Amino acid sequence: MVPYLCIVELKRIATMIDFRNFNSLIALTAYFNSEKRCKQAIIESRWCDGDVVCPYCGEHHCVSRTDGRFRCKGCRRNFSCLVGTIFENTKLPLIKWFVAMYLISSNKKGISSYQLSRDIDVTQATAWYMLHKIRLLYPQSNTTNFEGVVECDEVFIGGKEKWKHKSMRTPRTQGRSTKTKTPVFGMMERCVIINEKGEEENMSYVHAFVVENTNKATLQPIIKQYVAEGSTIITDELMAYGGLNQLGYSHFIVNHGSEEYANGDIFTNSIEGFWSHFRRMISGCYHDVSDEHLQSYINEACFRWNTRKMSESERFAHMFGMSIGMVCRWTDIGAGLMCA
Ligand SMILES: [Zn+2]
Repeated sequence: MVPYLCIVELKRIATMIDFRNFNSLIALTAYFNSEKRCKQAIIESRWCDGDVVCPYCGEHHCVSRTDGRFRCKGCRRNFSCLVGTIFENTKLPLIKWFVAMYLISSNKKGISSYQLSRDIDVTQATAWYMLHKIRLLYPQSNTTNFEGVVECDEVFIGGKEKWKHKSMRTPRTQGRSTKTKTPVFGMMERCVIINEKGEEENMSYVHAFVVENTNKATLQPIIKQYVAEGSTIITDELMAYGGLNQLGYSHFIVNHGSEEYANGDIFTNSIEGFWSHFRRMISGCYHDVSDEHLQSYINEACFRWNTRKMSESERFAHMFGMSIGMVCRWTDIGAGLMCA
């Protein structure tokens, strides 16, 4: 089983705040009712054993100042608890950031900047900036961490030519052409997790990336990077997947061309479920996504997929941890944010 992020060895230290209480927006805003409380939560979670570490030089045991900031004994610089987090230099109240993180993580299909601007009373431009900053929290790990059965598939994102005005159409671009569409490659590991009730439950984790094309030379190095040797890989009949057996994988093909969609456990329907989820997120919420930002929307979709079995409070704890620069995850044993 693969946890969502690249998890380093974690030492579990309970913070003063029980993130399990934040199972609704009401509970979140009731607890974080002042700027002081928000900052206190960041301090307690960031330096959970009370040892304040300088974000500039790494010196331990920095001292508190009367103005709520800290002073480093090494480089003699003053810093606030926000230095090195996504909230650094923000002029907005922290609660607006927390609510934005809560909304983006709890809405199944994401949230538009217009909606967020109305929800937290900021301008649309500010909301757009906040959402993009929050999306930076969703990097995908770059290590080999998929094993067992992995489905691979590719999809083309971009508007259909038939909906465009005649003068705007590019000839011969229907289907899988990369002239007007952007190819995205995805890998999905099927696995089984133990849920809260102690029962086994099917789960899957996904990685997806914008790629230049769907050639063998592009796709196979990505597979090699993310999927452990000896795994089983299931793909469609695309030529680019030829020769995976020689790379140390057991390769099975679903022949979509001859209308074969599943042969026992040999299918790519799970990853196709992810693609349709992703397409709905784009068409239903963000409408049109530029190539420049496409990867960050994909990262958002992957995060939502990979954390879909978490509760709202778990997902918020996860996001909160990432926002203050912790590689963290929620465990199913007890409360507390994990910190590295
Ligand atoms: Zn320092």
